[in-house]
Amino acid sequence: MSYIITNQCIECHRCVSICPTGAIIQNEQKYQIDPERCNDCVGDYAVPQCWAGCPTNGGCVPEAILTQPLAVEASNDYWDTWFKIYNDLISRLTTNRQSDYWQHWFDTYSQALANQLQHTPTSVGVNA
Ligand code: SF4
Ligand code: SF4
Repeated sequence: MSYIITNQCIECHRCVSICPTGAIIQNEQKYQIDPERCNDCVGDYAVPQCWAGCPTNGGCVPEAILTQPLAVEASNDYWDTWFKIYNDLISRLTTNRQSDYWQHWFDTYSQALANQLQHTPTSVGVNA
């Protein structure tokens, strides 16, 4: 599974209707992605629809953001390790939030533009 629904989900139900494989399930008001059914929208869309269509900034995120290992090595000094981990997490959160926001914005905009171009008739032969 490449995407995860987090506790920032506001339960708007939008992703359920746009998922092409029916992978998003509702379990006691919580939404989850069934890893057996999710195929990252491959073959249906260029952009994962749950991520692109989610109205929140962090309700549906790539799994790698939450599961990537810490980039710090522990030392014998407790506080030295604590501050390294703290700085790594802060750096990751601020960097990911910014890059995800713009990636999300760009993917959504590209998808909407591609859809619009597909359905726009050509203007050849239009009389003035
Ligand atoms: S990535 Fe696509 S197939 Fe997977 S849960 Fe999201 S919308 Fe459904
Ligand atoms: S689209 Fe986002 S906020 Fe809405 S139900 Fe899905 S994960 Fe939650």
